[in-house]
Order: sequence, then structure tokens, then C-alpha cells
Amino acid sequence: FSKIKKVLQDFAQQISEAILYRTLSEKEIDEYCNNLFIQLIESDVAYDVAEKIVNEIKQQLMGKKIRRGDDAKNYIDTAVEKSLEEMLKGVGTFKLMNFVKSVLAKEKPVKIMFMGVNGVGKTTTIAKIAHILKTNGFKVVVAAADTFRAGAQEQLKKHAERIGVTFIGGRYGSDPAAIAFDAIVYAQKNNFDVVLIDTAGRMHVDIDLMNELRKVARVVKPHLKLLVLDALTGNDALEQLKGFEEAVGVDVVVLTKVDADANGGAALTTIIGVGKPIAYLGVGQGYNDLIEYDPAIVLKMLFR
Ligand code: GDP
Repeated sequence: FSKIKKVLQDFAQQISEAILYRTLSEKEIDEYCNNLFIQLIESDVAYDVAEKIVNEIKQQLMGKKIRRGDDAKNYIDTAVEKSLEEMLKGVGTFKLMNFVKSVLAKEKPVKIMFMGVNGVGKTTTIAKIAHILKTNGFKVVVAAADTFRAGAQEQLKKHAERIGVTFIGGRYGSDPAAIAFDAIVYAQKNNFDVVLIDTAGRMHVDIDLMNELRKVARVVKPHLKLLVLDALTGNDALEQLKGFEEAVGVDVVVLTKVDADANGGAALTTIIGVGKPIAYLGVGQGYNDLIEYDPAIVLKMLFR
């Protein structure tokens, strides 16, 4: 996020220097804001998100009178931070642990279906969530209903062994829906609390994949359909969301690799643009590198 931070600080500096001498006119605020807009775009913030940020900041600055001698830089820093805070607060938080508990009060096992394009960090996220669930005392099964990618079964199995949760898989090319179904039956018979179902990804969203996922969803009847998106991909992530939403439906989102965005613009775009409740943000490759979505933490990352 360092580049975004610099863009915003430069903006505050620039505008505060002008304010030190006189009150800014609407025209001048427009000029500064247009400048900020271009810089945000250059830091990979998506067009409509940059527009949203700039409009918010404009609202904060318009009509506010600053007396000469007041610390304008501080004032504008605060205005910028407040605008971002408002936007980040508008993003819904989904408390996965509370959700699991609320389903368990009625039935067992809780079934969560994971979806996502290859490489976004889906397998790692399943492992991280399995780890959190286990730490919270839940009995967890992970089901590898991805029989399309050769390494998918092995990868999830290794994670399951490391974390210490039960793994259920199947042969390469076998029916993903059947594996998911087996895992649920196993969980019911053995009094498990939660079944995490991994599904196949592709390089892109395609018809075969969507038909396969629809079938898994029909057989499994998941309590929750969770889409994993890579925050580094910005607008692409938002396109992927559209594809999965139309074909299968998406309840909540996990955004991965928020730690890895040098510019900060792509991550900010995905967080603000996603329009679905966010359960977690992935902030690293380890099992503990998953944090509940919290506007205050994202702000800290932006302004650290
Ligand atoms: P999948 O193909 O979607 O299952 O993706 P994987 O789970 O195999 O992850 C792809 C790569 O992204 C791996 O190298 C992961 O360690 C890495 N990764 C996953 N989540 C995060 C994250 O939150 N931050 C960082 N920095 N890397 C991540």
C-alpha cells in the first residue's frame, strides 16, 4: 500500500500549501481532485473506485473553511483518511465462526463450498480456515472435489495432514459431486461439525466449470458458497465474481494476497468494489495469515 499512501500524502501536502495562504475555491478543489484521480489510476485503482474516492474527498473539502494559520495538512490528511474509512466501513463483514455456530445450533455438519479461479489461493485459504475452525474446537473434514487438476488432491491432503484435520478425496477424473457427497456422509456418520469442500478452478471462468459447480451445489446444498478472489487482480477479480455469481451464486468472499500489493491500488479496488460481505483477508502464506475483514486494519495498512 506504500504507493497509495504516498499519492494521498502528496495530495494533502499540495492542497494544504495552497490553503495556508487563502481559502480554496470550488474550481481549485476540482483541479486538485482531478490530479489525485489520475494518480490513483496510475496506482492501479479501478476507474469507478478512484471516482468514488475522489468524490468522497471532494465532499469532505467543499464548503469547509480553514482559517489561515490552522494546520491545513493535518486537516486534509484527516479528511482523506475519513473518506477512505467511510468507504471501507461500507463493506460488509461476515463473521464465519458465528455463522458456523448458528448453523450448528440447528444441524450438523455445516457445509461450506469453496470456489475460485486457479492460483487465487483457494487451497491455502481452505487450509487456513480449517486451521481456525480446528483451533476453535470444531471437528473438520476437507473434501477435495477438484478432480480436474492433477496436483489438487495431493496439495489439499498435505495441508490437512499438517493441520490435523480429516481429508477425503477421489481419483483424478472422478465425479466431484460424488466426492463431496461422500465427505458429507462420512461427517454425518462420524459426528463431524464442518465440511469444507474444495472445487475445481480453471484459468478462466468457463461453461464446463460452471456446470460442474452447479452440480456440486445441487448435490451438496451448501450452507455457504464462498468465493476466493486474489486482491492483486483488481478489476479481474470483480469480473470473476460476476461469473460465479451468475452461474452458481456467491454468499461471501475471501480476498487473498492483500499483503502482496506493492501499489495498494488493486487491493483497495477489490475491497471497495466487491459488493459482497467479506469474511477474511489473506495476508500471507502461513496458516495464521488470515484476518477478519476490519476497516480499521485496512486503514492501518494504508497509512502505516
Ligand atoms: P489455488 O490454485 O487457488 O488453490 O492457489 P494456492 O492455494 O495453491 O495458492 C497459490 C499461491 O498463492 C501459493 O504460493 C500460496 O502460498 C499463495 N497465497 C495464497 N494466499 C496468499 C496470501 O494471502 N498472501 C500471499 N502473499 N500469498 C498467498
